[in-house]
Amino acid sequence: MIRFLILRFVFPLLIFFLIRSVLRSVVAGQARNAAHRFNPRTAPAATGTELKKDPVCGTYVSMAASVTSTVNGSVVHFCSPQCRDKYRAA
Ligand SMILES: [Zn+2]
Repeated sequence: MIRFLILRFVFPLLIFFLIRSVLRSVVAGQARNAAHRFNPRTAPAATGTELKKDPVCGTYVSMAASVTSTVNGSVVHFCSPQCRDKYRAA
Protein backbone atom coordinates (compact mmCIF):
# COMPACT_ATOMS: atom_id res chain seq x y z
CA MET A 1 0.00 0.00 0.00
CA ILE A 2 2.80 2.42 0.90
CA ARG A 3 4.66 1.55 -2.24
CA PHE A 4 1.49 2.15 -4.22
CA LEU A 5 1.10 5.57 -2.62
CA ILE A 6 4.69 6.46 -3.49
CA LEU A 7 4.26 5.44 -7.07
CA ARG A 8 0.89 7.08 -7.34
CA PHE A 9 1.68 10.48 -5.76
CA VAL A 10 5.33 11.03 -4.95
CA PHE A 11 6.75 9.91 -8.26
CA PRO A 12 4.54 12.18 -10.40
CA LEU A 13 5.36 15.01 -8.03
CA LEU A 14 9.08 14.42 -8.50
CA ILE A 15 8.62 14.37 -12.26
CA PHE A 16 6.64 17.58 -12.03
CA PHE A 17 9.41 19.35 -10.10
CA LEU A 18 12.04 17.98 -12.43
CA ILE A 19 10.21 19.27 -15.51
CA ARG A 20 9.54 22.58 -13.83
CA SER A 21 13.21 23.09 -12.96
CA VAL A 22 14.24 22.17 -16.49
CA LEU A 23 11.73 24.60 -17.95
CA ARG A 24 12.92 27.31 -15.58
CA SER A 25 16.53 26.86 -16.55
CA VAL A 26 15.58 26.94 -20.23
CA VAL A 27 13.59 30.13 -19.77
CA ALA A 28 16.35 31.68 -17.69
CA GLY A 29 18.90 30.74 -20.34
CA GLN A 30 16.83 32.33 -23.07
CA ALA A 31 16.39 35.48 -21.01
CA ARG A 32 20.12 35.62 -20.45
CA ASN A 33 20.78 35.18 -24.17
CA ALA A 34 18.27 37.88 -25.03
CA ALA A 35 19.78 40.26 -22.51
CA HIS A 36 23.21 39.50 -23.91
CA ARG A 37 22.03 40.09 -27.45
CA PHE A 38 20.21 43.34 -26.80
CA ASN A 39 22.37 44.89 -24.12
CA PRO A 40 24.92 47.08 -25.91
CA ARG A 41 27.31 46.85 -22.95
CA THR A 42 27.71 43.11 -23.25
CA ALA A 43 27.25 43.00 -27.02
CA PRO A 44 30.11 41.98 -29.24
CA ALA A 45 33.32 43.83 -29.40
CA ALA A 46 32.63 45.54 -32.71
CA THR A 47 31.76 48.87 -31.15
CA GLY A 48 33.97 48.72 -28.07
CA THR A 49 37.33 47.73 -29.47
CA GLU A 50 37.22 49.30 -32.91
CA LEU A 51 40.21 51.57 -33.39
CA LYS A 52 39.77 55.19 -34.31
CA LYS A 53 42.52 57.58 -35.29
CA ASP A 54 43.05 60.63 -33.17
CA PRO A 55 43.14 63.47 -35.76
CA VAL A 56 45.42 65.58 -33.57
CA CYS A 57 48.32 63.28 -32.71
CA GLY A 58 47.59 60.35 -35.02
CA THR A 59 47.31 57.78 -32.23
CA TYR A 60 44.87 54.91 -32.72
CA VAL A 61 42.55 54.58 -29.76
CA SER A 62 39.81 52.04 -29.05
CA MET A 63 36.37 53.54 -29.17
CA ALA A 64 35.67 52.35 -25.63
CA ALA A 65 38.74 54.09 -24.21
CA SER A 66 38.67 57.19 -26.38
CA VAL A 67 37.58 60.70 -25.53
CA THR A 68 34.83 61.67 -27.94
CA SER A 69 33.59 64.96 -29.22
CA THR A 70 30.83 65.68 -31.69
CA VAL A 71 32.11 68.02 -34.38
CA ASN A 72 29.77 69.19 -37.12
CA GLY A 73 27.42 66.31 -36.36
CA SER A 74 30.00 63.53 -36.52
CA VAL A 75 31.68 61.90 -33.55
CA VAL A 76 35.45 62.34 -33.42
CA HIS A 77 37.62 60.16 -31.17
CA PHE A 78 40.66 61.42 -29.30
CA CYS A 79 43.31 59.74 -27.15
CA SER A 80 43.02 62.34 -24.42
CA PRO A 81 41.09 65.45 -23.37
CA GLN A 82 44.18 67.49 -24.26
CA CYS A 83 43.96 66.38 -27.90
CA ARG A 84 40.25 67.04 -27.92
CA ASP A 85 40.84 70.58 -26.65
CA LYS A 86 43.54 71.17 -29.26
CA TYR A 87 41.18 69.98 -31.97
CA ARG A 88 38.41 72.25 -30.74
CA ALA A 89 40.75 75.20 -30.49
CA ALA A 90 42.14 74.68 -34.00
ZN1 LIG B 1 45.98 62.35 -29.19
